[in-house]
Amino acid sequence: MKDLRLAKNSGGPRTVVDVRGVKVGQGVTVIAGPCGVESEEQTLETAVAVREAGAQMLRGGAFKPRTSPYAFQGLGLKGLQILEKARALTGLPIVTEVIDPRDVTWVCEYADVLQIGARNMQNFSLLREVGKSGKPALLKRGMHSTLEEWLNCAEYILAEGNPNVILCERGIRTFERYTRNTLDLSAVPALKELTHLPVLVDPSHGTGRLSLIAPMTYAAIAAGADGIVIEGHRNPAEALSDKDQALTPAQFAEIMRRVRKLERSMAENA
Ligand code: PEP
Ligand code: MN
Repeated sequence: MKDLRLAKNSGGPRTVVDVRGVKVGQGVTVIAGPCGVESEEQTLETAVAVREAGAQMLRGGAFKPRTSPYAFQGLGLKGLQILEKARALTGLPIVTEVIDPRDVTWVCEYADVLQIGARNMQNFSLLREVGKSGKPALLKRGMHSTLEEWLNCAEYILAEGNPNVILCERGIRTFERYTRNTLDLSAVPALKELTHLPVLVDPSHGTGRLSLIAPMTYAAIAAGADGIVIEGHRNPAEALSDKDQALTPAQFAEIMRRVRKLERSMAENA
């Protein structure tokens, strides 16, 4: 792979990103929460539910990069303040998206992990700012991106002196229309060969279909993923974005139970 220096797997130790004591790259890390922060009640209730089910971090967008400019764009600063409350209530570190390089510095005051979304994977000025911030970064795969392009984006962050990069496979666009995206699980073992960075999988955006989230979660773990990023809502029918892929708290809890079982059995049989 051309021009990879810092992201490249040279046979040394694998990167473990420490987020307030949660070690991404050791065991299976589960990050869960709503697609978007919609209100204080919705976020706090969902945060408590996912924490009780065993999630280790809370996700939720305060800035939503939407296909239509008229769709819900997120609550911005108010959303970040709600996430801060959710962290105080549950102790869960916060993963939230940043979409504009000018926002990186102040979003860092609230976020524990800065998510760079699929649509911004190659926003090089954003990558550089996130690199300079030193904050752990969750870099999602662009929807039309090769592994080489994706790893070069990780390289942009690393080259600014930020070693805390986590990759997240979230599906790529193919000719298939039954699923929202085609979740490329072969990317997981491929990335393990190519890079030392931890690799997560997002089966929610990866499939866009409720019935496929559980099986693709287990398949991702079996493929060697370091964790899962998953969307849930206290009442999916009310969700302002991505309602068709939002799990109820009970559905999420059942997936978690099986995830931990699978993790234990894989460790025993390793
Ligand atoms: C998200 O995680 O809410 C999101 C917008 O994901 P993606 O960038 O993968 O579409
Ligand atoms: Mn979403």
